[in-house]
Amino acid sequence: MLLLIFFIMDLPVLDAKRFAKALFELNGRKNFQFRNWLFLPGMGFGDKQKWWSGGEERLQSHEGVDICRYEDTCGNQCLLKKDTKVPLLMSGRIVAICDDFLGKSVFVKGSAKQGRWIAVHAHITTELLCGDFVEEGDAAGQIASGRSVIPAHFHLSLIKYDSFKLPDKLDWHFLNTSDQGIFVDPFGTK
Ligand SMILES: [Zn+2]
Repeated sequence: MLLLIFFIMDLPVLDAKRFAKALFELNGRKNFQFRNWLFLPGMGFGDKQKWWSGGEERLQSHEGVDICRYEDTCGNQCLLKKDTKVPLLMSGRIVAICDDFLGKSVFVKGSAKQGRWIAVHAHITTELLCGDFVEEGDAAGQIASGRSVIPAHFHLSLIKYDSFKLPDKLDWHFLNTSDQGIFVDPFGTK
């Protein structure tokens, strides 16, 4: 466990507040009035239920976090809307972009100094291209439209892959059929 924490700490990006600051800056908000991300049951890492359908069970445990709500410094609950720009979790290279059920998913392979990590930014629209080199905090894209029963939000997954070989094709089929042990809570809260 200590080793895992060491590896997570080794990544410069996995801090919920730091990520929020990047998001606020990217969206041109000068005042950083952020206390916490808020996760309904089902939005958190490893959660078993769907948060948008009355607790119906997911096909597999949640492989990341769903983000659209936060608490500001006054205790107000705030919602991120469609088209909010989403910052990249880490610097590296775009190794895949695929469709997901709400938009696109952008897979970033961390730069060598960050170790063997893949970050997935999902349910967004994006202008990035496969092969692009990107920097932490730059825009991965913007939150895509939700559906009638699924409010607009974005999803982050973090994969550590030093113990297995990555497939040639990275997509949701890979995420849905992989051993759940490859996923790490992006903000290390569980
Ligand atoms: Zn999700």
